[in-house]
Amino acid sequence: MKTLALVPVFLLAAGHASAEPTQKELEARKASLEEKLKGQGFTVMIEAPFVVIGDEGPAMVKHRATGFLRWTVGLLEKDYFTKRPDKLIEVWLFGNEKTYRKGAKKFFNDEPDTPYGYYSPSADALIMNIGPGAGTLSHELVHPYIEANFPSAPAWFNEGLASLYERPVEKAGHIVGLANWRLPNLKRQINEKKLPALPVMLGTSRSEFYNASFDSYAYARYLLMYLQEQGKLHAFYKKFLADKKDLTGQTALEAVLGTDVATFEPTWRKWVLALQTDGH
Ligand SMILES: [Zn+2]
Repeated sequence: MKTLALVPVFLLAAGHASAEPTQKELEARKASLEEKLKGQGFTVMIEAPFVVIGDEGPAMVKHRATGFLRWTVGLLEKDYFTKRPDKLIEVWLFGNEKTYRKGAKKFFNDEPDTPYGYYSPSADALIMNIGPGAGTLSHELVHPYIEANFPSAPAWFNEGLASLYERPVEKAGHIVGLANWRLPNLKRQINEKKLPALPVMLGTSRSEFYNASFDSYAYARYLLMYLQEQGKLHAFYKKFLADKKDLTGQTALEAVLGTDVATFEPTWRKWVLALQTDGH
């Protein structure tokens, strides 16, 4: 590797920094977090490629990291993601809303607008209230993976996929999202004719998606769930990822559906209205 020796040191360093974190880096981060959090009731552990920090006690933090987190990451990587996040990401699990809000303020100077959790790309951290359930963790885990694997993905796809896996189960070795608490509001908006046509949702910019007058998360989630139920979600993802021209996903969607969205939309709306949840 003679040529490598000629590469300036700063380039090697930059190249190294953009790779998946090494075991050594994970260990160093764990040690520095333990030092910083000493005596404050936190448990810090490595669950590659993440460092997990929790305030629910060592047994519970270990249970969440080696159980649900490992299971979700394994299934997501298998079906969607060839690359792991190219930076070390901390996963902060707070046991309730009070400690979550306190921790977000103290460690990240954030005042979250959600009681559940969020991904902070600037702090390289997933920060969440794990009390209401692990669904927040599986949702948030999708974001750094989309960032690493599909950086041009629109907000609707990023949040739709994350929301789909808020209620994940494993079927034949694959991750599957079940109907959840976002369904009743979507049905209501369909019935009240408050949901815009599909191309409007697909074409939302980041700020339009996050500030939509309709339930954009639910719209995106149940579009992807429909594809999942038709066995077309993975094919859609591959086509969408490969499409460098239509960044809204509409072309890829029409290709996997075999029809245009105007023809498809009434079918989808009917499917949503017939869908049932069991209260989750
Ligand atoms: Zn999200």
